Amino acid sequence: MTRVYNFSAGPAAMPIAVLERIRADIPDWNGTGMTVMEVSHRGKAFMETAAKAGQDVRDLLGINDDYSVLFIQGGATMQFSMAPLNLAAVGQTVDYVQTGSWSIKAVAEARRYCRVNIAADSADRKFTYIPPASEWQLDPDAAYVHYTPNETIDGVEFHFIPQTAGVPLVADMSSTILSRPVDVSRFGIIYAGAQKNIGPAGLTLVIIRKDLLEPARPDIPSLLAYRIYAESDSMTNTPPTFAWYVAGLVFEHLKNEGGLESVGRRNQRKASKLYAAIDDSQFYSNPVQPDCRSWMNVPFVLADPALDSRFLAGAGQAGLTNLKGHRSVGGMRASIYNATSEAAVDALIQYMREFERRNG
Ligand SMILES: *Cc1c(COP(=O)(O)O)cnc(C)c1O
Repeated sequence: MTRVYNFSAGPAAMPIAVLERIRADIPDWNGTGMTVMEVSHRGKAFMETAAKAGQDVRDLLGINDDYSVLFIQGGATMQFSMAPLNLAAVGQTVDYVQTGSWSIKAVAEARRYCRVNIAADSADRKFTYIPPASEWQLDPDAAYVHYTPNETIDGVEFHFIPQTAGVPLVADMSSTILSRPVDVSRFGIIYAGAQKNIGPAGLTLVIIRKDLLEPARPDIPSLLAYRIYAESDSMTNTPPTFAWYVAGLVFEHLKNEGGLESVGRRNQRKASKLYAAIDDSQFYSNPVQPDCRSWMNVPFVLADPALDSRFLAGAGQAGLTNLKGHRSVGGMRASIYNATSEAAVDALIQYMREFERRNG
């Protein structure tokens, strides 16, 4: 078996223990003589699997009964529409904090339905920092405040939870969910596409405070209404059963690893050593203000961009894949989500030093 060290931004690396479990469950899942993708979502076997996944993610994140946990399709991008359509009445203002490529997309979608107030924006320094909360211009009458705790493309991350004076806080946690403990009670809605830190693409986790379930616009399509999912245990129509099952295996795996405290410590260690390697060199650099650097996505550039393709080719030969930076940013990006091991980060650092020695 050959497994590479995968630094993909998404869909991203999966834990090997989970992949082996999936393989063991094919073609006979739990003695059913079928795989999980061949059974009814309303049958007992799948219902139990689905419910256990929901309970495990509640346990991991410490989610209490004030919240519904929903499993939805459409990706995080569909949440860019669902949040405004469910939370804001026609003509109502919504606050957005614009800190990079994904929040820009969220803003563009919200503008289709709402008056968007950009409460803070870090475009002036190319999205390399988080504007200090003291400078935000929040609208006290906003339906909600939306922000992107981790900007996957720009590699900036909030290391604080914004205060919103009672206005519901909505967070796109696609690329940071389950990377460490988080106080869910501070949020109105947390949403995350699965393909970074949860499981296969096709599934979106939504954690929503129950008082926000009633849509502010009664005429939205039912499949875009949070309430419909909450009332049907996310089985309004056929859910992405295989992705849900795999997400459940990942939740179980994280519990076995000691939960989010220990996962978070490991993630912090991985990020610190990679940033230290970048900062200690004259050859690599990361543009992000140090106190806003992401634990999950680490962009960096080489002193001479003409060496980029040689760097990537050598990395590939060393079994280090998907390091090319996003086309909008250039350079490199190492995504080091939960399933990218410390050994992978060590191997990357070793390769970077070696490459610098030969080419720097
Ligand atoms: C990947 C990503 C998205 C888009 O997710 P889709 O599932 O492709 O819609 C949105 N926001 C953030 C922060 C992401 O990392």
